Amino acid sequence: MANTKIPHATAKRLPIYYRYLHFLSDAGKQRVSSTELADAVKVDSATIRRDFSYFGALGKRGYGYDVENLLAFFRKTLKQDKLTNVALIGVGNLGHALLNYNFHQSNNVRISAAFDINEDITGTIQSGVPVYHMNDMKEQLTVQQIEIVILTVPAPVAQEVTNELVEVGVKGILNFTPLRITVPNTVRVQNVDLTNELQTLIYFLDKFGSHNENDA
Ligand code: ATP
Repeated sequence: MANTKIPHATAKRLPIYYRYLHFLSDAGKQRVSSTELADAVKVDSATIRRDFSYFGALGKRGYGYDVENLLAFFRKTLKQDKLTNVALIGVGNLGHALLNYNFHQSNNVRISAAFDINEDITGTIQSGVPVYHMNDMKEQLTVQQIEIVILTVPAPVAQEVTNELVEVGVKGILNFTPLRITVPNTVRVQNVDLTNELQTLIYFLDKFGSHNENDA
């Protein structure tokens, strides 16, 4: 089951389902129908049933889904049952904001180390996270068994920093820089280009108003 191959679009919806199931569980709800879920997470119920079907028959007709079962299943699939340490590279404005952001509250992810080349901040603790010099990156990532990094360096150095990360064995990069970095196919990149997202939103609002174009 852990190795079930699921479509990328489905994988991207899992954290949304997970968050809502958490909410239901906290509210003491024991079961939920795909229609209720659909209303809450704004994904149509057929898509939800199809998404869930990739993991086998998790729901029962006329009963819906058992909230705790589903939650336990997602926790496992999304590796929420263990704490994942990640590192942040580039403690500028965006880097600082992400250090301050409490990932740990919503899921078991924690930034446990940050890296920079600016000696004004290396050797300090920012928002509870130690900032190391890039020279210590390999050692720290190895010791702390960190395989995932958040990249918030300036775009002109993003590729050279990425090459260093690949060299030390990083497996996943959350890329906040506008540069589409190149990595070998053993490394996974998720791009979060805030400026681009905002411009896309402005474009769609301008062209289509508020009608939601991204269902399904
Ligand atoms: P932003 O809002 O994008 O974070 P900023 O103006 O605060 O912008 P940038 O110039 O984008 O800062 O740099 C972000 C951080 O990346 C800075 O703290 C900078 O010292 C750091 N940095 C620059 N080059 C490197 C590098 N090669 N390796 C690691 N960190 C770097």
